Amino acid sequence: MSRAKCLILGGGPAGYTAAIYASRAGLAPVLYEGMEPGGQLTTTTVVENFPGFPGGIDALTLMDGMRKQAASFGADIRRGVATAVDLSERPFKVIIDGKETVEAETLIIATGATAKYLGLPSEAKFRGLGVSACATCDGFFYRGKDVAVVGGGDTACEEALYLAGLCRKVYMIVRRDVFRASKAMQEKVFAAPNIEILWKCQTREILGDDSGVTGARLVRGEDEVFDIAVDGFFLAIGHHPNSELFAPWIETDDKGYIVTSDKTQETAVPGVFAAGDVQDPLYRQAITAAASGCRAARDAERFLVENS
Ligand code: NDP
Repeated sequence: MSRAKCLILGGGPAGYTAAIYASRAGLAPVLYEGMEPGGQLTTTTVVENFPGFPGGIDALTLMDGMRKQAASFGADIRRGVATAVDLSERPFKVIIDGKETVEAETLIIATGATAKYLGLPSEAKFRGLGVSACATCDGFFYRGKDVAVVGGGDTACEEALYLAGLCRKVYMIVRRDVFRASKAMQEKVFAAPNIEILWKCQTREILGDDSGVTGARLVRGEDEVFDIAVDGFFLAIGHHPNSELFAPWIETDDKGYIVTSDKTQETAVPGVFAAGDVQDPLYRQAITAAASGCRAARDAERFLVENS
């Protein structure tokens, strides 16, 4: 058993930024990075909209920089995933990897969000055999081949553009007749010669054989069924917040996002704060996650002064 004044769960922009501020405030934070050190940003390539990098910055470099910056101020950054929590009283108890208990005087939840899947049986069957939710992780395997991307948001457009640079052809399967993505992103997609947009289409089934995905059966509108031949099938239809572990104690909204106070990062449990995508259904940017991590650390600092 160990004890922390400030325990941070999550190794994305929110968690690392919270660790930078908490360590500089003398809270000796302990941060567990979770399943995906670096967070969702590690599934992207170049980040062009993080202030301070006019030419863009490689996402892994950005995250590594945040991590090193936190460590340089003394944050204790550890590998490990929170598998159970008890937030019924302070100190809060957090079990790491099912075995080690950490007692925390304050807790900052920055566990992020996870990619959504369509829920088709064929999708589960071919996951890792052509079905992926990360183009930058798996796109390399489809060089010169044809692939499909499902979704019409910024992520789908970004993934499609990335794949368009590697693959022969990219189909975008969009369920409405408009994109949800920003105008700038849409324009880049429209300008890509090897992206074909299949408007008003839904996936009925992912087709394949023993070697993996070979195509997808789509429905356009009400009843026009047709197949496309692809080797890779990429999901980019949004994310769900990683809040299940905490839901018995803290308030979440109807989609599972942790509810925080209007003006601070406080949750319904005094001493527990949330930052980043686990509590943000709206902005979901690295810069907004980082900002909320800063706020959460400042909130934890104030809480400890008032409650010690
Ligand atoms: P979004 O929620 O913005 O978009 C999800 C897309 O998937 C929508 O087009 C939606 O369709 C579609 N979709 C959802 N469920 C299904 C389904 N079951 N079947 C088919 N299609 C489905 O998620 P994103 O991940 O794209 O973006 C999340 C946030 O991150 C946004 O705020 C975005 O702006 C931001 N972002 C910013 C980037 C940047 O600035 N560089 C890069 C990537 C993301 P519909 O529109 O019909 O609901």
